[in-house]
Amino acid sequence: MQPTIFERIIAREIPSTIEFEDDRVIAIRDIAPSAPVHVLIIPKRVIRNVDDLSEQDTELIGHVFLVARDLARKYGVVDNGYRVVTNCNEHAGQTVFHLHFHLLAGEPLGRMNSRPPRSAGSTRSMLFEGGLLVIAAIALAAVFNSMNPRQIPWVKKEYERTQATQNDIQKYLAPPEATGQNKPVDVTVDQPTAAPTKTEAAAPTTTAAPAASPSAEKPKNTFVADPGKVLEIGYDAFVRLISTGSFHLIDARTPEKYSEGHIANAINIYGGEAQSRIPDIIQSPRDRVILIYCDGGECELSHHVADVLKQFGYGPIFIYTGGWAEWKTKH
Ligand code: AMP
Repeated sequence: MQPTIFERIIAREIPSTIEFEDDRVIAIRDIAPSAPVHVLIIPKRVIRNVDDLSEQDTELIGHVFLVARDLARKYGVVDNGYRVVTNCNEHAGQTVFHLHFHLLAGEPLGRMNSRPPRSAGSTRSMLFEGGLLVIAAIALAAVFNSMNPRQIPWVKKEYERTQATQNDIQKYLAPPEATGQNKPVDVTVDQPTAAPTKTEAAAPTTTAAPAASPSAEKPKNTFVADPGKVLEIGYDAFVRLISTGSFHLIDARTPEKYSEGHIANAINIYGGEAQSRIPDIIQSPRDRVILIYCDGGECELSHHVADVLKQFGYGPIFIYTGGWAEWKTKH
């Protein structure tokens, strides 16, 4: 049988850095250290591994551990700690089949529970564990989402999008006798009577005022409730409705966007927070039309707020689809 590399080191056929030697063992620095201190303590007698030990080796193995103890003291690693290990056969990763003990120290060595890379045979269990991980991640996301006041709906809801007709708008405009003609009336824009909101407290820095100015004469209240009715409107209809001064105006964008700028008198109920704002919402009287706007576009956040309001019998609710983006450019 070919001599092992350690036999050749002991025989000085191969060079090594010897840290200790006596008639029974040799201690050399590992050629590929796994820690700042990595010394191999090798019994000189040819023994394949732990499984080849016999009673007669009892004293030899005791001696190996005393050498390890002395080396650890010499390197000053006793207080911080060290590890003495030996590998036996394939699963332990033995590569040199001549009994030897690794003395490792000089840094935290971690727990001895690292797992080897998996073989192709364990693909099924990998998939199983991967699946479990994905399920756990989804469950975690669901919990966080449910705790988040701005939670994201799991299934994208398709909202019914109905465009308001001239007649729909007309019903909620001031009657001709109050305006003199069927044009936007020039009335005070009432402070919305909706309950104060979190975001209202922080005064917005920028606002865009609706086209309205003070006037002694208020239009007659022509409000006819139409609970649950949600209609989309464009810019012109929106301007006409706000000019009546009789509305609740809701900005369904994020509080951040709201604070950057919003339509005057709008209260901020961010779409994602609508559920948590129900106590605020239901305090608002139902005696006016509700106007909601977002940034413009699909207006899903506005529809979301409208949905909540609908459940509490508010209506009609008009969603201004041009939203802040259009309002900003036209004002
Ligand atoms: P094991 O994997 O437990 O059999 O350990 C064998 C160790 O011997 C490894 O850590 C190797 O880096 C080390 N080794 C292999 N050849 C040499 C060598 N010529 N001099 C010093 N250490 C060596």
